Amino acid sequence: MNQKERNLEKVKRIRKKTYSVEDYVTGILNNNNVILSKAITLIESTLPEHQNLSQQIIEKCLPYAGNSMRIGITGIPGVGKSTFIETFGNYITSLGKKLCVLAIDPSSEQGKGSILGDKTRMEELSNNTSAFIRPSPTGGNLGGVARKTREIIILCEAAGYDTVLIETVGVGQSETVVSSMVDYFMLLMLAGTGDELQGIKRGIMEMADTIVFTKADGNNILRAKLAKTQFENALHYFPPKKSEWTPTVTIVSALENRGIEDTWNWVKKYFDTIKNNKYYFQNRKNQTIKWLHETIIEKLKSDFYTKNKHKIKELEQKAINEEITPYIAANTLFDN
Ligand code: GDP
Repeated sequence: MNQKERNLEKVKRIRKKTYSVEDYVTGILNNNNVILSKAITLIESTLPEHQNLSQQIIEKCLPYAGNSMRIGITGIPGVGKSTFIETFGNYITSLGKKLCVLAIDPSSEQGKGSILGDKTRMEELSNNTSAFIRPSPTGGNLGGVARKTREIIILCEAAGYDTVLIETVGVGQSETVVSSMVDYFMLLMLAGTGDELQGIKRGIMEMADTIVFTKADGNNILRAKLAKTQFENALHYFPPKKSEWTPTVTIVSALENRGIEDTWNWVKKYFDTIKNNKYYFQNRKNQTIKWLHETIIEKLKSDFYTKNKHKIKELEQKAINEEITPYIAANTLFDN
């Protein structure tokens, strides 16, 4: 075989491994997790050709998406999220459902290493054939991670996953991002730390549809029961939700497998309620519109900065030298 023939062989080998849009879509619709994972990797890639391919795949999967219960789960590090998701997730699949677990990790954005991804998490659920777990997409800003996660949800739903859990760490902006892509929001809290009501930002608490007190076992049971009563009383003073849902409280021990069914029953009841009163459909429409506008803003911003890169550098210097105010400097960019 001469060099030319060897090169040709190489190209053939590479081509063989390359999937077409149709290959991806068929694989996803047939619930082939290997293909699904590869397609998700394309979404996460920054290469323009991968982006292009992933957009075509997403578009073709879109008609098959939208049919899952999208559930957000948040809580501070150590509250017991991964242990809860493991037990809750295994319970959900035992009902014959197909579960997908995704994560939005704000720490990965800041290059600090990941809060969610560092440990070996959810080992049992990882081996559950009815579950698909994918760590948080890394790189880029929170907006970028949010876009990727929304696109990943579409592919997972097209692959037949009917329950999607999106986990995030309760430390800042990421809850708002998650709540803009889920139907239902769960806040995990620890009872008995004495500062339940202060420890978590009120805004996050107001987003919660169910508050789950974790680790309700051993010495913690009594504290958890007390916290449940306190919260059930306090939640009445919260502003009414557009969904007309009054938030509920459960106490759970993921380690001892207690309170899990109770928590799932609230999820079911919630979805029945919001489908009956149509909030489910309206909320999804609003989320889609919001996603569109966020994309427009993101694109405008990146195009504008790319186009005016040098001019902005000059203006920065002028502003530092106090030759011009930042306000006027910014305005000069829009003058023509
Ligand atoms: P995450 O950081 O929120 O994901 O929290 P983890 O799930 O990693 O749990 C943090 C710690 O709490 C671990 O040591 C767990 O074993 C422990 N933990 C989690 N759930 C329970 C529970 O139901 N009962 C008890 N006693 N400990 C738990």
